[in-house]
Amino acid sequence: MANLVLFGAPGAGKGTQAELMNAWLPVPRVSSGDLFRYNLSNNTALGQTAKAYMDKGELVPDDVTVAMVAERLQRADCDAGVILDGFPRTVAQAEALDRLLGEMGRRLDAVLFIQVARQTLLQRLAGRWTCPSCGAVYHEVFNPERNKGLCDVDGAKLFQREDDTPETQARRIDVYQEQTAPLEAYYRTRGLLIEIDGEQDIEGVQAQIKTAVQAL
Ligand code: ADP
Ligand code: AMP
Ligand code: ZN
Repeated sequence: MANLVLFGAPGAGKGTQAELMNAWLPVPRVSSGDLFRYNLSNNTALGQTAKAYMDKGELVPDDVTVAMVAERLQRADCDAGVILDGFPRTVAQAEALDRLLGEMGRRLDAVLFIQVARQTLLQRLAGRWTCPSCGAVYHEVFNPERNKGLCDVDGAKLFQREDDTPETQARRIDVYQEQTAPLEAYYRTRGLLIEIDGEQDIEGVQAQIKTAVQAL
């Protein structure tokens, strides 16, 4: 059983690291951003609500976000634990998560804080390419696909996220500083925060995460 949060600014590498953790930690990754994008592409009511916020790089309201994640956590595949990616993003969401896990007789084991400087975040977001089919994430310089423009896993045509424009990228990092960064203190106080040097290359970051989780 492992209930983990991957915490860090947009572009820190949370999704990339969560995917790699699959190889040695058999618990599902739950990404609130992916859940919103799934709803968006299926044009659900939830997707329509979220779109206006996502387009601007703002956070979707807490009640909507918490309800969506709560529903996902209650599915059977999360019984063995979960790696949360992109959730929680506000103190209210963190409190809701504590409550949700408590109701399931569980609690968080650790919050892995992937620390990356703003300049690096911008470089990573600017070169990010995503697979529409399997969600794999590439970077045109730091983690290029083997065949230009095509996913290594399934050959689908890669795309750049609509919210990866320079303006929205900068806004998302500001929103992180204003609304999400306070979670660092929230989790440090509770003794859950583990600091990871996110400036290292993808393998270097993964090695730190693996060592930290195996020591729990
Ligand atoms: P997040 O989920 O935190 O927003 P991603 O995992 O999508 O971040 O990574 C953002 C971009 O940075 C992607 O293009 C990814 O390939 C690249 N990236 C992730 N980790 C690293 C790293 N340690 N070094 C260089 N590039 C990275
Ligand atoms: P991400 O894929 O994590 O970069 O998230 C993309 C967008 O989805 C964010 O910019 C927000 O608009 C929205 N989003 C994702 N997770 C959350 C969350 N926990 N709380 C509020 N909004 C979120
Ligand atoms: Zn793919």
